[in-house]
Parts: sequence; structure tokens; C-alpha cells
Amino acid sequence: MIRGTLTQGVGGLYFARTLEGEEYPLRAKKKFRRQGLTPLVGDEVLFTPGTGEEHGWLEEILPRKSECLRPRVANLTRMCVVTAVRPLPDWLLVDKMLYYARREGIGAVIAVNKCDLDGGGCAREAARMYKNAEAAVLPVSAATGEGLEEMRAALQNETTCFLGQSGVGKSTLLNRLFALGQETGDISRKIERGKNTTRHAQMFFPNGLRVLDTPGFSLLDIEDVFEPVELRAYYPEFAPYEGQCRFSPCCHDSEPGCAVRCAVEAGEIDGERYGRYRILLENMRKNWRKRYD
Ligand code: GDP
Ligand code: ZN
Repeated sequence: MIRGTLTQGVGGLYFARTLEGEEYPLRAKKKFRRQGLTPLVGDEVLFTPGTGEEHGWLEEILPRKSECLRPRVANLTRMCVVTAVRPLPDWLLVDKMLYYARREGIGAVIAVNKCDLDGGGCAREAARMYKNAEAAVLPVSAATGEGLEEMRAALQNETTCFLGQSGVGKSTLLNRLFALGQETGDISRKIERGKNTTRHAQMFFPNGLRVLDTPGFSLLDIEDVFEPVELRAYYPEFAPYEGQCRFSPCCHDSEPGCAVRCAVEAGEIDGERYGRYRILLENMRKNWRKRYD
């Protein structure tokens, strides 16, 4: 048996890629259905290759490090939240993506693309807001190539998915990552994504990186329903103040004697990020009240 990574799965036909970069078409053995186990893009697997034109057989799915429901992929370790100077960033959505990543146990970085348009102003604003949010801010420009080497370094040894509003430059960035360090003319592997192509998850290996492309996946419609008081746990900037509020537990909202609010007033926590936290908290409370409707 050979070991590989599932890079695609459409209509019961899977593709596994070996470390050497060979791709094999496979079908899953019946036992997976019996076990209620669905092979996912990103899975590490063992398989028997087919001969000639024949497909091979997926024999074994190795234990998953993580399993993400949306997008439905396995072994994701990084979410790269892509924003841009234009269209104007929706920071509330970025915050949602960050807590979502944290809930799934996946690390996050924030790429601010199109820095060529404003000399990096937007990226500096992001760096200020997310200073203690445990999500590195990467200023990049897919147009000029600025910051791409840094991005590559930040995503090395990770399995990354790129998320963000349409138009921020995700496809352009992915193509630039492929092109990095390659001779011009050898961009035959230019990826096709978005609009008129597949809506299925697919794994790419641009320049030694591992990228899970999940077209059509948007966090906009994620209605996370969990106890509002849990939201604060996904804000690393609150951690130093936990346990110092007058009330316990404290949602760090309008409770008197809240140490987090004090820290915001003292300028120790970014006020805009905190303001958005309170909006998300309010949404969370609404969803929580309606959860049995
Ligand atoms: P996606 O919807 O997120 O995949 O975005 P696209 O990759 O399709 O890019 C949307 C538009 O932004 C295209 O017209 C790109 O040429 C443009 N674009 C992408 N990156 C940059 C950049 O770094 N600078 C500038 N000025 N434009 C960019
Ligand atoms: Zn508090």
C-alpha cells in the first residue's frame, strides 16, 4: 500500500497525492460506508494503486488531526483570512472568522492584500487592532509581489485554507504563490477556481505549501450558536484580565467593575475590536434565546 493525501473527491472518485507528487485516482472501499466514514479532502490515506487505466482503492484513512465541518475538510491547521484595501474590510466578519478558527482549534493569520493601493495604511490599522489577538497580520500585494515571501514563510508546514469576501484577491494570491520562485513560463499549473469551475474542495501544493481551496465556502452564513458567556474565551487579549472582574462569570459587557472594559478605557485593549466583540455578543445572545424556536 502507498501513502498519500486526498486532494479531491467528486462523485465517489478520489485523488490521492504521494509525497513525490504523483496523483492516483481511487474509489473508496465499501467498508467506509458501513463504518459511516466519509473520506475528506485533506485526509492522509493508504491506498492500492490501480493498473493502467483502472482506478485504485482507498484502503485506510489515517487518524485525523482535525475535522472541520465547514468547510468539510480534514487536517486543516491554518486559516488565512484574506482582506484587502478594497473592497473595504468587514472587520466584524474577520472577528467571526477568528473565533470560528479558534473554536475549531485552527491557527489564524490575517492577510491584508492590495497594499499597493494605500501604501500599507490598512495593514497598519489591522496590525494595531489585532496586536494581541494571536493572529499575525501579513501586509501583501498580489499585484507587486510585496509580502509574498513572508506569507510563504508564515504558511510553511501548515495546511491552509484561504477565506474572505469575494474580490479581495484570493485567486490572484494563490496564483502568485504558485509562481513564486518558478521560472516564468512554467505557470502551467495555474489554478482554476471560482466562478465557472468546480465548487468542490481541492488541495493545492503551491511551491511546497499545502493549500485547501474551498470555493463557495463562506462564513457569512455561519450561525454559531453557543453560550454567549463562552465568546470571551476566543479573545486572547482578554486573557490577562480574566478573573479580575467584580462579577464571575463576567461577559465583559456592561457589568460594573469589569476589568476588561477598564483595560479598553486605559487603551490596553483595542477599542474597536472590543466594540465589535459586544456586537457579536449581542448576536450570540439573540441566537441563544432563539435556539429552540
Ligand atoms: P477573489 O474573489 O478573492 O478570488 O479575488 P480575485 O483574485 O479574483 O481578485 C479580484 C480583483 O482584485 C481582480 O481584479 C484582481 O486583479 C485584483 N487584485 C488582486 N490582488 C491585487 C493587488 O494586490 N493589488 C491590486 N491593486 N489589485 C489586486
Ligand atoms: Zn468583565
